[in-house]
Amino acid sequence: MSRIAYVNGRYLPHAQAAVSIEDRGYQFADGVYEVCEVRGGRLVDEPRHMARLDRSLRELRMARPMSAKALSHVLRETVRRNRVHDGIVYVQVTRGVAPRDFPFPAAGTPSSLVVTSRSFDRARLEKQAEQGIDVVTVPDIRWQRVDIKSVALLPNVLAKQAARDKGAREAWMVDAQGRITEGASSNAWIVTRDGVLVTRALDTGILPGITRSVVMDELKAQGLKVEERAFTVEEAYAAREAFVTSASQIVMPVVSIDGRPVGNGAPGLITSGLRRDYHEHAEIA
Ligand code: PMP
Repeated sequence: MSRIAYVNGRYLPHAQAAVSIEDRGYQFADGVYEVCEVRGGRLVDEPRHMARLDRSLRELRMARPMSAKALSHVLRETVRRNRVHDGIVYVQVTRGVAPRDFPFPAAGTPSSLVVTSRSFDRARLEKQAEQGIDVVTVPDIRWQRVDIKSVALLPNVLAKQAARDKGAREAWMVDAQGRITEGASSNAWIVTRDGVLVTRALDTGILPGITRSVVMDELKAQGLKVEERAFTVEEAYAAREAFVTSASQIVMPVVSIDGRPVGNGAPGLITSGLRRDYHEHAEIA
């Protein structure tokens, strides 16, 4: 079955789906995106993802491509046309097409909108979650507004490749003070020896993950202790458990950091519980 993409008003087979070479997303990475989990053909945490998209657009003074209601319809239609049961839906908005010049194009230049969707092998993901993943640490070389979900992801690409080159699945980025910011495409968490969950506070140094926010709700509901603060690489090495959160991986156990086993080297109990119960706290529609 051919995959279908929504591109600026049309649903097209991927082979014919294209944007202009003068699209500002292509020329300047002048665009933002969202990734939403699809579960049973329905969208997970759509309102929070759409609120974050709105915020990213606002921070960059970029026009909304269409109303929230129309966008919600396009997301669902793209999922439906691709027959995605379990997977993700991807939305990208750029500052549109204009002759290549750094300042914003003329007012009224329409944003570009691309929506794609693809299936996941759920069984494979679950197997990975049972085994846990390895992470390596790399310096965080990103710009100072990573709270905006922009498509300017080159440092993340390099970090992820550095991880792959070392046989790991994810890279944890480290700031100049030796503290972990987040993963290349996920938020980073540890559970201390005392059973306290620690993840970096929301500031401009990390992306405010939607999965992170739902896990926060889950922790409150379960009465688990959480500290939103920066933690060092050494603290992470000494942690009892570690995990990452993202819309595509939900809660994924981390079993080694820079080749050192986390805890006993197997997914932790708190982590596995958070993964198991995640969708009871998420909004699925
Ligand atoms: N941080 C970064 C850098 C990311 O790319 C992502 C996933 N896109 C996340 C965190 C997790 O965010 P979310 O839970 O909203 O997927």
